[in-house]
Amino acid sequence: MSTLSQLEFDQQHLWHPYTNVVKPGPTFVVKEAEGVYLTLDDGTQLIDAMSSWWCMMHGHRHPQITAAMHAQLDKLPHVMFGGLTHDPAIDLGRKLLEITPESLTRIFYCDSGSVSVEVAMKMAVQYQHALGYPGRSEFATIRSGYHGDTWKAMSVCDPDTGMHHLFQGAVSVQHFVSRPPVALGQDWPDDPALNGLSELRETLEAGANEIAALILEPVVQGTGGMYFYHPEYLNQARAICDELGILLIFDEIATGFARTGELFATDFCTVEPDIICLGKGLTGGHVSFACTMTNDRVANGVGGGNPGIFMHGPTYMANPLACAAAKAALDVLTGQDWQTRVAEIAAQMVAELEPARDLPNVAHVRVLGGIGVIEMKHSVSADAAHARAKEMGVFLRPFGKNIYTMPPFVITPDELSRITAGMLRLAREL
Ligand SMILES: *Cc1c(COP(=O)(O)O)cnc(C)c1O
Repeated sequence: MSTLSQLEFDQQHLWHPYTNVVKPGPTFVVKEAEGVYLTLDDGTQLIDAMSSWWCMMHGHRHPQITAAMHAQLDKLPHVMFGGLTHDPAIDLGRKLLEITPESLTRIFYCDSGSVSVEVAMKMAVQYQHALGYPGRSEFATIRSGYHGDTWKAMSVCDPDTGMHHLFQGAVSVQHFVSRPPVALGQDWPDDPALNGLSELRETLEAGANEIAALILEPVVQGTGGMYFYHPEYLNQARAICDELGILLIFDEIATGFARTGELFATDFCTVEPDIICLGKGLTGGHVSFACTMTNDRVANGVGGGNPGIFMHGPTYMANPLACAAAKAALDVLTGQDWQTRVAEIAAQMVAELEPARDLPNVAHVRVLGGIGVIEMKHSVSADAAHARAKEMGVFLRPFGKNIYTMPPFVITPDELSRITAGMLRLAREL
């Protein structure tokens, strides 16, 4: 047994996300969490303004979700999914079909968001292969995107912030177009030179023999910059993809389950994707889980090809414990008036973040559903933010130029005011 304190052991032995393992930044030890509150080892309670990286949508340890997990744990925590199935997988499937875009009928359960993106990309390649286009193995995407940290997912992340230069030669080269230039809420110009579609069309036409699918985050680009863009771009992209035989993948890992004020960002559109990726809020943040859903076109294409089987099957596929957590989390979501709840959170954030517009270092302030963003003119140090936010009783972790929150939906008005006050302080002082 080492004589190091808990924190010392952590700092000497544990990797953390996107950090220098030999020069770790300030880190808090969390002892427990309930609702919107994290309790640290020194007894401090902090409001989790990040919903623990956007997944803990209904608050920590939601009683309905933990009860479902306890019950499942006592019955069947795990069993392989090859040749076997179980109620949690089926019941979750029924629920997902009720709430997701209608054309999506087939569900592939997997472990994490990045894996669900890998699965989506492999499905697209196998689909094209099955249709007699083995050359279509590349992908098109828009800049400023984020799709995960595994190799293929990384290849379609923004080439600058995704640091493609670090992995040059190892990461696949894909087809990038500018991020959609028309922001959500702006008037949609019909001129394709102004709305970004001429560039998209040119890129897709030029690469039509090599591109299996166009993958993007619909309406909200998350980690790549918290940018909200016009859904008409997606409606038109669908038409161009159809013309060229290119599949359309929506990565709704961040946007799914009402975060944007719509149940899915797809609901802003008049079209539906061929493949959708869901994760993060799927289990209400209680355990890692994700899924990839497709329409019949993709399912029949892949299934009708040679070898017909889809070449992916994680050990923990459809883990019953995760399925039970997800089913309970979706019941919590749809069992409340989520439209009103998210609209209230949005309205309060709009009002309370307004003063940030007058601060000299603030570039832009925006709110969509349960997402509130103060974009600074310069990048902000997460480490510097931690201590100040802690003094305000809030856990905030800005990235890049963005000081943002995605509060749990169970937040009270007073608690949300503490978050927005913390954000304003960071915008003033950092
Ligand atoms: C977080 C995220 C991912 C990756 O999910 P992980 O569970 O971290 O692997 C992929 N796409 C989007 C849009 C995300 O926000």
